[in-house]
Amino acid sequence: MASSVCDPQVDDATVNDTTLSELRELAETARGFFEKEVTPHRERFAAQGFPDRECYERAGDLGLLCMSVPEEYGGGGGTFAHEAVLFTEQVRAGDSALQLGVHTGIVPHYLMAYSSHQNKLRWLPKLASGEWVGAIAMTEPGTGSDLQNIATKAVKEGDDYVITGAKTFISNGRNCDLLIIAVKTDPGQGAKGVSLVVAEVSDDTPGFERGRLLKKVGQKGQDTTELFFEGLRVPQANLLGSVEGQGFFQLMEQLPQERLICGVAAAAAIETAVGETLRYVKERQAFGRPLFALQNTRFELAECATLARVARTFVDDAVAKHLRGELDVPTAAMVKYWTTEQQTQVVDRCVQLHGGYGYMDEYLISRMWIDGRISRIYAGANEVMKDLIARSL
Ligand SMILES: Cc1cc2nc3c(=O)[nH]c(=O)nc-3n(C[C@H](O)[C@H](O)[C@H](O)COP(=O)(O)OP(=O)(O)OC[C@H]3O[C@@H](n4cnc5c(N)ncnc54)[C@H](O)[C@@H]3O)c2cc1C
Repeated sequence: MASSVCDPQVDDATVNDTTLSELRELAETARGFFEKEVTPHRERFAAQGFPDRECYERAGDLGLLCMSVPEEYGGGGGTFAHEAVLFTEQVRAGDSALQLGVHTGIVPHYLMAYSSHQNKLRWLPKLASGEWVGAIAMTEPGTGSDLQNIATKAVKEGDDYVITGAKTFISNGRNCDLLIIAVKTDPGQGAKGVSLVVAEVSDDTPGFERGRLLKKVGQKGQDTTELFFEGLRVPQANLLGSVEGQGFFQLMEQLPQERLICGVAAAAAIETAVGETLRYVKERQAFGRPLFALQNTRFELAECATLARVARTFVDDAVAKHLRGELDVPTAAMVKYWTTEQQTQVVDRCVQLHGGYGYMDEYLISRMWIDGRISRIYAGANEVMKDLIARSL
């Protein structure tokens, strides 16, 4: 298979030998974690609509969370390459219940970039141990792509912000203890009126209510919820950044990593789909021969395997750029848009090659088909990605 930072099975020029052996070891630990702690509970998580919180604690015990956060703050002292290995193994395991992308790939990076030393010491070790689960709430019932027009308000009162509003589609919404909320600190302004504040939340927090566990087409074991704020008080010291009105800019700065995570997952999904399908069509017989002897099946898989290679190369290049601090907004948008489009197309073609079994829940390919569809919509709809790319041309 292709050489890769995310898939450290083969040597790769972008990481040195020490890092590579560390990444290999990490991949093994992550594989073991999903096999033992997550996959056996898939159906239960899907039925209840959320993963057990203990999964995060177990991942924390194994050092799988906040791997790119400095050790000073309880993290692993590694890089995004470590995170990428974890996301890759999660896709291979077929897990869509844990929202590790948000918990360890997104939330800690906002805290690292914009919170005070005291707050980093207070929050990051709890996210790294899995004692707390992290979430980020941007989307509202009335607006998703158009984040400048959020309506949730934060008004200063004493030393606090008092937050009023509603969010929806929030990953980890049921399990979260730490929530980054996009608010308007100046409702008269568009982008310049947006700020990000951090709330520590529990089921008993006054002014905070978790809404419905939303019933989704796929990712059924993942808690995606509404959240309501009716006078939620948050210390002003929890504002991300030193002044108000930086939220939109901070989102723009951090979203490339979120989009790269989508690319890492998409590349892993394409490879997994091709691998699963090859195994299946070589075993299944039709007309006295394996399905793989049919020319259409061979050609389809030849095309899909080529797309897998191109996606892998594209994503690895973007990961390497990100590790050097050079991943720009248009490139991240290209990665997110292109790889997720390929993901949904390749997985759909692989379902077709499985025949009726490809439609059965017990087959990984069927779940990848359903779970993967959202990848073209969240983390910025692919149309928004194209707009970002076009603006750079
Ligand atoms: C499972 C799941 C998990 C999620 N997790 C989170 C989370 O943790 N936190 C969070 O804040 N949000 C989360 N979201 C929300 C997600 O990010 C939004 O759904 C997404 O940003 C799109 O916003 P919207 O749904 O309001 O669609 P809209 O903004 O209403 O857009 C609808 C469609 O219009 C088109 N469109 C929009 N803008 C443009 C444009 N500029 N140019 C061309 N076409 C355009 C696109 O086709 C788009 O899909 C999640 C959503 C889902 C389904």
